[in-house]
Amino acid sequence: MRYEGMIYRPPSEGESLIIQTTIGCPHNRCRFCNMYKSKRFRIRKVADILQDVEEAGRLYGGSPPRTLFLADGNSVVMRTSQLLSVLRKIRETFPGLERVTAYGASQYVAHKSLEEWRELRDAGLSRIHCGMESGHDPLLRLVNKGTTMREQAEAGRLLREAGFELSMYYLAGLGGDEMRKGHAEDSAAVLNAADPDFIRIRTFSPMPGTELGDEFLQGRLKISEPHGVLDELRMLIERLTGNGLLLSDHWLNFAPVRGRLPDDRDVMLRQIDRALALPGDAFRPVGMISDSL
Ligand code: SF4
Repeated sequence: MRYEGMIYRPPSEGESLIIQTTIGCPHNRCRFCNMYKSKRFRIRKVADILQDVEEAGRLYGGSPPRTLFLADGNSVVMRTSQLLSVLRKIRETFPGLERVTAYGASQYVAHKSLEEWRELRDAGLSRIHCGMESGHDPLLRLVNKGTTMREQAEAGRLLREAGFELSMYYLAGLGGDEMRKGHAEDSAAVLNAADPDFIRIRTFSPMPGTELGDEFLQGRLKISEPHGVLDELRMLIERLTGNGLLLSDHWLNFAPVRGRLPDDRDVMLRQIDRALALPGDAFRPVGMISDSL
């Protein structure tokens, strides 16, 4: 199996076999993201991907993986026919897989029809990890996310209607103190429209090699303190009406919030309130970090 450059995958795919279908991210212009800055985007040759799947089959032998993740960023941008070839090979090689997943930002999800998504679902792709980050249009524009509140909601609905499991990511603190309310309210509206199976919380921290990282180093970007971010998370959770599992599963987050909506809402709000009662120095330092999200 061949891998090119640093490989990223969601924490929940830590045990997954990774097959790299694309190199880098077709957008690669989000002002907070440094994951694929060093890679020029391209779709790998399908023949090479199929060879990698075959080789993985030989390597795993009688102990096949339970789950598989298609890297890099936004592999769903591949033509549906290309993805179907890869998925058929994966199913032939590992017929017992419980889950095949990929990253899919809304603008690339929206490129395919419901019919195409159903075909992909039938061929074995089963969960999409969608980096929503925010549903607030002014913030989406500010960070150059390349999508809109409406497109995010429609992409989520499309995937759910096609039978996918959907994991959506919210980037707490991304709008700083100024956009906090709009960020929480509009993101809740998108999440309510899409009703994902999983809502995963991440917390914004400026990264080296990004435009927002540069602005932070130049003193032009002010980031929220932990209490502000926790307040925002509280606003978000108060407004959620879906049935998903909310997980705060990243070391950058300020509180260990976890629960099934809507039943565990009050438990989660209490978890946040406990964190809100702590002094500022009880949290990790706020500032530039050297890791990637
Ligand atoms: S956040 Fe996602 S869509 Fe934006 S540049 Fe990074 S990988 Fe690409």
